[in-house]
Amino acid sequence: MAVTAEDAPKRSLNFIEQIVENDIREGVNGGRIQTRFPPEPNGYLHIGHAKAVCLDFGIAERYGGVCNLRFEDTNPVKEDVEYVDSIMEDIRWLGFHWNNVYYASDYFHKLYDLAVQFIKEGKAYVDEQSAEEIARQKGTPTEPGQNSPYRDRPVSESLDLFERMNRGEFPDGSMVLRAKIDMAHSNMHFRDPIMYRIITTHPHHRTGTEWKVYPMYDFAHGQSDYFEGVTHSLCTLEFEVHRPLYDYYLDQFVKGDYRPKQREFNRLNITYTVMSKRKMLQLVQEGLVAGWDDPRMPTICGLRRRGYTPEAIRAFIDKIGYTKYEALNDVALLESAVRDDLKPRTPRVCAILDPVRLVITNYPEGQRETLLTENNPDNPGLGTREMAFSRELYIERGDFMEQADKDFYRLSPGGREVRLKSAYIIRATACEKDAEGRVTTVFAEYDPESKSGSEGGNRKVKSTINWVDVESSIEAEVRLYDRLFLCENPLAESGGFRDLLNPGSLTVLNGCRVEAYLADAKPGDKFQFLKSGYFCVDPDSTPGSPVFNRTVSLKDSWAKK
Ligand code: ATP
Ligand code: MG
Repeated sequence: MAVTAEDAPKRSLNFIEQIVENDIREGVNGGRIQTRFPPEPNGYLHIGHAKAVCLDFGIAERYGGVCNLRFEDTNPVKEDVEYVDSIMEDIRWLGFHWNNVYYASDYFHKLYDLAVQFIKEGKAYVDEQSAEEIARQKGTPTEPGQNSPYRDRPVSESLDLFERMNRGEFPDGSMVLRAKIDMAHSNMHFRDPIMYRIITTHPHHRTGTEWKVYPMYDFAHGQSDYFEGVTHSLCTLEFEVHRPLYDYYLDQFVKGDYRPKQREFNRLNITYTVMSKRKMLQLVQEGLVAGWDDPRMPTICGLRRRGYTPEAIRAFIDKIGYTKYEALNDVALLESAVRDDLKPRTPRVCAILDPVRLVITNYPEGQRETLLTENNPDNPGLGTREMAFSRELYIERGDFMEQADKDFYRLSPGGREVRLKSAYIIRATACEKDAEGRVTTVFAEYDPESKSGSEGGNRKVKSTINWVDVESSIEAEVRLYDRLFLCENPLAESGGFRDLLNPGSLTVLNGCRVEAYLADAKPGDKFQFLKSGYFCVDPDSTPGSPVFNRTVSLKDSWAKK
């Protein structure tokens, strides 16, 4: 029995939750709440799917209901177990649990029997026309369609042909089973929609070659909802025009009071990416990205590899909410959600992305010390770590300028004093360059009394720079990502979307130097690299040679707007 969660977090209800609470109050379907998440296993989940996942599972959790995972595996041409497995992994990773796993293919027998019943009742017929012919007769929203010449063929003929379609006697595309409704209906979906098609060329990933006919989405979906006991069939707005047909099919055979009801909400669309399995597949197949889990992809596995957390994704989805209007959400909002989530939970470490050597000439040769530093000043729970300090360090090339004007607050010979993060104050004295004039070493002197945390350590200087110790630091590869596309809404542009890709979406930096503390980091571990952003260890890492993905930069470009 469903109950309203008394202690659910206090935020205003979205319109779906309002409908659900109303249905509970009115005792619709006995007050029972059951939803389903119905992916087609023809690709990896993207963050748009996460929006549906959060709603389907979230509603069941909040109202003490049931949410099942149902694979809509009605088209063997495009489906695969690889996708089934990844979808399950991604839902679990997002933090949700299904009650049962079902497959539309579990219902192939029931659906077939129902189709036979439709034929016997004169509600369906086998059409032998080509797809082109059928499309030509469809009419337009303002003009009625034309009846197929096969529309009034005898029931016995359709029955016989449908059985033989399923025995594999006819090639793909040679005939279809159509519902006999109304070719002049104002809703185009009622103009004798196709119920079944022949597919003999591809075995099904679960039923093999048992079936030669497969149900269309509209015929399978509502019936599957009904067979399972779904009460609230939540889907995206493009299915709103299908809803009358969903109801029509149920009306033909449902007896009794229980009935599933379809409700629609807006899709998630995000700027500078493509939220479509078909388009993502194209990116993968054409080698335009490294795979489904390329960190530039909007897939759940891509975001995971990039360093996104389930919490950040869920917070983002919560924030944008559910409405009845299509919108395009700024990717900056997603980025700000991951920043907010990672800020308190990641250790803040030094990583030098473009290193140049720094020699502290008045620091005793051979001397080494360890400096204690907090991992995250905002979160004492993350503890402290030791950083090795010595005469030779690496600093960022950009933190030194041989000839600097007075607005440059970092290192310059004879210039200002600068604090080495959590260590001493130094002042640059000179530099050494190679034949091309590129700085190879910066020389500086330190103030031994200025150690952070010591009595003299309170002296304030204008800027603090990052550093790592030459001897103990380790070399790393760092991958910086930018938006995958140059335009906000690639799907809305005409022309090839290959041309819309951002050629600078990936920058690989080799020879970066990171603190020894990161030597044992495991794939998936997350850090803030001071001054440059949040980073996550990539699975391409090997022992001693870590690879880091930049999840997001530190700067919040969203807040500025
Ligand atoms: P795509 O258009 O990317 O191929 P799809 O709608 O064909 O996606 P399905 O596997 O059919 O993918 O989707 C499973 C569920 O996820 C459906 O209920 C669908 O409405 C929902 N869904 C798909 N894309 C989005 C999105 N961008 N925003 C919210 N929900 C989505
Ligand atoms: Mg779909």
